[in-house]
Amino acid sequence: MLKKELGIFTFQDLLEHFPNRHIDKTKINKIKDITVQTEYIQIAGTLLDFEIVGEKRSKRLVAHIRDNSGILELAWFQGVNWVHKNLHVGSDYLVFGRTGFFNGKPQIVHPEIEPYVPAIADGKTFLEPVYPTTEKLKARGLNGRQIGKLTYTLLSVVQEKDVTENIPEDILKRLQLIKRYNAYRSIHFPQTSDEYEKAVHRLKFEELFFAQIRLNIIRLQRHQISKGIVFEKVGDYFNNFYNQHLPFQLTGAQKRVLKEIRNDTARGHQMNRLLQGDVGSGKTIVALLSMLLAADNGYQSCLMAPTEILAQQHYNGLSELLKEMPIEIALLTGSTKTAKRKKILQGLLDDTIHFVVGTHAIIEDIVQFKNLGLAIVDEQHRFGVAQRAKLWEKAIIPPHVLVMTATPIPRTLAMTAYGDLDYSIMDELPPGRQPITTVHRYETARANVMDFVKTEITKGRQAYFIYPLIEESEKMSYEDLMQGYEQVKSFFPEHLYSISMVHGRMPAEQKDTNMQRFVSGDTQIMVGTTVIEVGVNVPNASVMVIESAEKFGLSQLHQLRGRVGRGTEKSFCILLTGSKVGEDARERINIMCATNDGFKIAEKDLQLRGPGDIEGTRQSGALNFKLASIVNDKQLLEMARFEAENLLNDDIELIMAKNLQLKSFLYLQKVKTGWSKIS
Ligand code: ADP
Ligand code: MG
Repeated sequence: MLKKELGIFTFQDLLEHFPNRHIDKTKINKIKDITVQTEYIQIAGTLLDFEIVGEKRSKRLVAHIRDNSGILELAWFQGVNWVHKNLHVGSDYLVFGRTGFFNGKPQIVHPEIEPYVPAIADGKTFLEPVYPTTEKLKARGLNGRQIGKLTYTLLSVVQEKDVTENIPEDILKRLQLIKRYNAYRSIHFPQTSDEYEKAVHRLKFEELFFAQIRLNIIRLQRHQISKGIVFEKVGDYFNNFYNQHLPFQLTGAQKRVLKEIRNDTARGHQMNRLLQGDVGSGKTIVALLSMLLAADNGYQSCLMAPTEILAQQHYNGLSELLKEMPIEIALLTGSTKTAKRKKILQGLLDDTIHFVVGTHAIIEDIVQFKNLGLAIVDEQHRFGVAQRAKLWEKAIIPPHVLVMTATPIPRTLAMTAYGDLDYSIMDELPPGRQPITTVHRYETARANVMDFVKTEITKGRQAYFIYPLIEESEKMSYEDLMQGYEQVKSFFPEHLYSISMVHGRMPAEQKDTNMQRFVSGDTQIMVGTTVIEVGVNVPNASVMVIESAEKFGLSQLHQLRGRVGRGTEKSFCILLTGSKVGEDARERINIMCATNDGFKIAEKDLQLRGPGDIEGTRQSGALNFKLASIVNDKQLLEMARFEAENLLNDDIELIMAKNLQLKSFLYLQKVKTGWSKIS
């Protein structure tokens, strides 16, 4: 039962089934003190009566309990029979649970209940652990407190030698962490809340530290042990392009990142680098120059984008930049026609194609290269870890990998979800950019908004109207989009304005044509869904209207907004909402209006949503902490990272005596969790 319901298989598992809170058993509240503000309460009283009411699905057990201040109602919807059998009218019970009000009277649904024995002040434990449990277990009498009793029994026989220390002594000392054995005791049965805090602190550190050890082993082994392709020289391709065709001066950040890439690829070890840049920071040109570096050393490169539109656009953009260079570049996506595809596959095999730009289509097994040296993944947060790994298999010596983010990710997230990568940051926008002005407007002000867009278009600029379309199959939002399109047309009549539309249900070719018309300035307005979210680059577009802005997530809003402000003109982003906006949505909108800084927005996004929801990290497994949280334990994470790096720098093989325990612990964990699969 424990196995199935809570995944507890071994004694160790039971020890690691941590309580989610402790109750001070001596603290018993009065029923009359329950107010609507009360969350959890513990009371002691006499059972007055109980009866089963209702039938079948609405069958429930209702009981009343009285202390010297009032009466409290208890109710059970599950495990009714068990509870019924075990309650005795007239006996005293200790009751704990979340309070609510039903018909104006206080009530606890599914309370924890046990015979009441007044706590004896024997100095042992006042803080009683309460464990997470399930309704099913409760129904069988294994409530949170029962689990506590099991754990208590277990701990009474466990000795210090049974809980081997896994953090080296010097770190424990330096950070003043308590021993593992003590931590396990204290997290379950602390004498004081201070003792409890120390135990949690120690165990959180342990979790984070071991995660960092694992990630850094992967990273450092790549630096020190794995073989990688060597890009020895900077040659003609790179130099000619840099000196004759580069349309602008690189920013300091771009130069710095190129240097990092140059160093990485010259060392003889595989590069795995995460390039974090805000929208518009100019990641594409960094990608291109890196690809030229690969070409100088006789290697092919691929650039992978998350959508067809973006792949197409990269292909067009790069082809244009490279038009006077003797470089063969191809576009490979899901909609590439068979004959063309055959030719490209052949070209990649015989090395007549130097660069290939595309979508997921590139990582399909059928795509083979003669000598792939560099794989770039653009706007990465849609590419999972597994897909990254597939790239490595494209050559005997794994190609260098550069992963570029769509928007920045918080540092703590980068350290955990992508901690096996090295990372670069581009925190500088190309010169001459003006910050985008973002405002929130209500639906009622639509006419004004449209007038504003009109004046911008009259100045020769272009505008986006973005609608939420969550899934391609979602009929509702599709209809919303069509209505939106009609509405836009009613403000911008067809004989005066031309409008492009792009959405997920459209055939790829039509999407491309419509997109291209907007890119070339043939149409002034683009009505679309989030399919245009990532990467699209139309510098002349200066206004973006985001419809139903309350439905978008923060990083999505930031990414969308990044489609304007890409030229030298002043740009605007208007977030339109209905009159009712929820609290979270309002906060998202306020942040958007307050800052253009993607790094700040990313932090806030993490705070608001929690790590589990951040795109692309769900499957990473690196975030499954029991106690630690990358939102609340930032400092501890930094510390864990620092200590792990130090330790591995001194002893990557983990052969020093002080690290042997750690090594065997790592090995055990690997066997138990299959952690190695994640890398
Ligand atoms: P992102 O980092 O969002 O992918 P892009 O690579 O699409 O950004 O670049 C955004 C725009 O900035 C493009 O129009 C690009 O040509 C331009 N750009 C990039 N680097 C520079 C630079 N150093 N100076 C001026 N413009 C630049
Ligand atoms: Mg880009």
